[in-house]
Amino acid sequence: MHLKGLGVSPGIGIGRALVLKRATRELRFRVPESLVKRELERFDDARARSRDQIQHIKARIADSAGTEHAYLFDAQLLMLDDAMLVDRTASIIRQERLNAESALQRALEQISAFFEQAEDAYLRERKGDVADVVGRIVMNLRAAGDPADLFKGLEGPLVLVADEITPSVIAQLDWSRLAALVTDVGSWTYHTAILARSIRVPAVAGLHNASAVILPGANVAVDGATGEVIVDPDDSTLARIATQRRRREAYEQSLDEYRGLAAVTEDGVAIRLEANVEAPGDAARALERGAEGIGLFRSEFLLASGGQAALTEESQYAAYRQLIESAGGSRVTVRTFDVSEPQLRIEHAGVEGARAPLGLRGIRLSLALDEIFQAQLRALLRAAVHGPLRIMFPFVSGVDELRDAKAAVARAAESVRARGVDVPSVPVGVMIEVPSAALTADLLAEEADFFSIGTNDLIQYCLAVDRTDDRVSRLYEPLHPAILRTIRLVARAGRRRRIPVAVCGEMAADPVLMTLLVGLGLTEFSMAAGSIPVAKRVLRDLRASDARTIANRSLRAKTPADVEKALTQFLAPQEKR
Ligand code: PEP
Ligand code: MG
Repeated sequence: MHLKGLGVSPGIGIGRALVLKRATRELRFRVPESLVKRELERFDDARARSRDQIQHIKARIADSAGTEHAYLFDAQLLMLDDAMLVDRTASIIRQERLNAESALQRALEQISAFFEQAEDAYLRERKGDVADVVGRIVMNLRAAGDPADLFKGLEGPLVLVADEITPSVIAQLDWSRLAALVTDVGSWTYHTAILARSIRVPAVAGLHNASAVILPGANVAVDGATGEVIVDPDDSTLARIATQRRRREAYEQSLDEYRGLAAVTEDGVAIRLEANVEAPGDAARALERGAEGIGLFRSEFLLASGGQAALTEESQYAAYRQLIESAGGSRVTVRTFDVSEPQLRIEHAGVEGARAPLGLRGIRLSLALDEIFQAQLRALLRAAVHGPLRIMFPFVSGVDELRDAKAAVARAAESVRARGVDVPSVPVGVMIEVPSAALTADLLAEEADFFSIGTNDLIQYCLAVDRTDDRVSRLYEPLHPAILRTIRLVARAGRRRRIPVAVCGEMAADPVLMTLLVGLGLTEFSMAAGSIPVAKRVLRDLRASDARTIANRSLRAKTPADVEKALTQFLAPQEKR
């Protein structure tokens, strides 16, 4: 079976499918022979716990409503031990070697089909009771232990097949076991895709129904560059994939020589290339790949991996200190939390959930939850003594928010100083990712120390296209004239006030788009560390004066297709040179 989606993290991975359904909270995988016993025991334990609970419920109902109302639970107790459910599930675990949750689910489907065919209306209604009992057993299976632990005994590399998956789930897994990741939803700037690139796990998104059609345990080959997903590939396909993999690895190795070289154009314009990282420990690796610093640390990933504890000042201080120290004296830019409300409230920290795109998120949320914001700022200011740090605010929509955020920084600095701790001066900048911020960039530039253009959000809000929805990804167009004009506006505003302007969205990592950005006058970029060697190679072959010519030509084009045509015409002869 061949599936085709959007390649969102290059590389080739082959492994056994592990299916995760977030919609139904179902995790399906095949276990090796050695773990069959473990799954049978988990099933028995969950049944025993369910039995205790149902007995307890039955006693309560009998007390408050009378024994005649408690009979329903007698039926549930019988079902818990009914051979139709128990033996069937156990034999699915044994024969198909499925994990207990999915074996139980499979057994339920078979039993439900049987009840549906029953002539007797009473029997047909029992379907709901069985589902209730099964739901309880599944709940107890989940409650026992961390699901990530279940992966530990599984054989070989795994391909995670999910309907949708949040970065926090990925953060909990052992990445070294992940050969690849495929999702039904998502696109290039889906946060999970960004994370996959940063941990160098090949990924394909936007597959629509992969989690329904790929069976747990199937052998799956994933090409994260082309978006190809092949289920149970035959030998000749495997051979073709192996050749592709070797070719790609050779290409990557050929880029190695660029890691240590300066990022400078052929005509001598120095470009600063920094890395986007999601974990403090990744900074050193990013520098090894040739980054000059960390241009974007997405601090909310601390919540994804650390949960509630990550919100405390102390734990954040330790994380920022580690980040700054592993950057070894290079500049580090930390973006304050860019999450939506449930993820930032103490009691819910680390919970899954997408950002509310136009709701309470980013700087708006930090300003609304002062205590949490202050803890983050204090941690950052304290960490700043360990190396050059900049603080950046996400989702700023205008000058008022910047002023409020700066006032919050001043308050945090005061309270750290009151403890007798030194606070160095820390540049404070703004992400330009909301159209209103771009349009008032001249005003913001008077009060910000730097800008970083977040093209991922800027494009989606300028063009009104949800960046995570693959169905409209055709309209997500970085080459739209509106985007080029907006970026030019921001670059100019920065130049006039002499503040640095970087681009940290995914646009910067595309060699062709980066050429255009250089032409628009940008000289700082932050991207996934893996993209840095190729960016250096492109820059060293590029004349900034040519890039300016192409940018001017592109700015005259009326449609994204026209811009693309102008770009290809320009780049094609140059490649031949
Ligand atoms: C952006 O919006 O371009 C950006 C870099 O931030 P994020 O992808 O985390 O929204
Ligand atoms: Mg953003």
